[in-house]
Amino acid sequence: MAENQLPEAFESQMHALLGAAEYAVFKQALEFPTQTSIRINQRKAVEIPYPKRVIPWAKDGYFLEERPSFTMDPTFHAGAYYVQEASSLFISHILESQKIPKGIYLDLAAAPGGKSTLLSSYLGEEGLLVANEVIASRAQILKENVIKWGLGNTVVTHNDPEHFSPLEGFFDLVLVDAPCSGEGMFRKDPMARSEWSADHVSLCSARQKRIVDKAGELVKGGGYLLYSTCTFNEKENEEILRFLTEEFAFEPVRIALDPSWGIVETQVNSEEETFYGYRFFPHKVAGEGFFITVLRRPEEGYSQSVAATKEFKHHSLKRVGEKESAVLEQEVGGDGSGKFYLLQDTFFRVGGAYFRELEKLAHVLSIRYFGVELGKKQGKEWIPSHEWALSLLPKNGFAKYELSLEEALDFLRKKEQSFPDLTLGWVLLSYQKLPLGWIKNLDKRVNNYYPKEWRIRN
Ligand code: SAM
Repeated sequence: MAENQLPEAFESQMHALLGAAEYAVFKQALEFPTQTSIRINQRKAVEIPYPKRVIPWAKDGYFLEERPSFTMDPTFHAGAYYVQEASSLFISHILESQKIPKGIYLDLAAAPGGKSTLLSSYLGEEGLLVANEVIASRAQILKENVIKWGLGNTVVTHNDPEHFSPLEGFFDLVLVDAPCSGEGMFRKDPMARSEWSADHVSLCSARQKRIVDKAGELVKGGGYLLYSTCTFNEKENEEILRFLTEEFAFEPVRIALDPSWGIVETQVNSEEETFYGYRFFPHKVAGEGFFITVLRRPEEGYSQSVAATKEFKHHSLKRVGEKESAVLEQEVGGDGSGKFYLLQDTFFRVGGAYFRELEKLAHVLSIRYFGVELGKKQGKEWIPSHEWALSLLPKNGFAKYELSLEEALDFLRKKEQSFPDLTLGWVLLSYQKLPLGWIKNLDKRVNNYYPKEWRIRN
């Protein structure tokens, strides 16, 4: 099959879903160019230099008129915005319109991190997000995006959904953005067409059932489960929703829609109730293919609470004592709530509200990152980590230097640089006031501490 041809079985499946006349319009829409969109990081707000228009269902979401070279924009590397497909930003409308309570959230299939950074922004200082990815290389990309976003309220884990068993009834919200057959990506990524097959759809559906079977039990009483895919077929959408209603006691959640958005509501009837799903077709919505459903666990459902423990015994993480923590909190300019941990000789900080839950997670999961990595200390001197630079925490006591565009790009390329009248020692570099990273001025030369693996390569 040619790369951009649609698989026959896909065509008949869509034909059945849409009817002949609408299918023709859908098929045509697959040939139109995709629209680039971004979601702004309000906590790192800068003026976005591209012509843009609001995405009506997404707080902080914008369509761009053209796709610029994001790589050449230092504010992109500083975490000022995330390039994200518009349909999936509907999650923002769900959270805001339902006023979903903040707390401990889990994004079970999180890489590369689009929806995790959205959840992280929604939670702000009032929650903790566990962003999990089962594939190691993808967990690394997820970690990088979480660090760039910089809000310090996220734990990145690398686990199979099965590993979450001890966390039954633990989360206020669980998002399963499931691995799927990717029919909604046929426009953006023509390769997806040649990888599609009816067998793959069945395989995805079976895997999705395994994942949601675990995810469902992790939601606490009164909490929410969000299930989404970027595919159209019913096997991976309505069938999974039906499976969830059969396996668990969930209540339906119906989301208010503005008809002008073009989002299609779909229904699944259980014995007693009607459940709702939302489908995004490219011929109706200014976005790619997407499906999402929202369910709520009854208030009386099982909730796991975490007992307060004086001590925290862990094979690699150590909680820093109260006296030392108070000193550290002053040094890093935190709001006074910070809890500090040592991983070997590297310090990490988390906001205090959820430290008990973090400690519970550390016993159960394989943590790849959490809170803000601050760095090491040599006597009273900090050897600051790049992660601290990109976080929202102040960087009091360090010299700062604002870069021009060319200088910022050279820094991100890790080119050799010199700067006039630079203070000796650690200097925080910024572009448009957004921190980009550290250099160390040794007088005769300047060392660039931008992570090698993140550098701009062209
Ligand atoms: N939520 C992400 C975002 O918004 O950037 C996209 C997630 S992508 C649709 C699905 C993810 O599920 C992939 O990162 C994939 O590696 C992961 N995955 C694959 N198999 C899985 C499994 N058996 N259980 C959980 N996650 C799985």
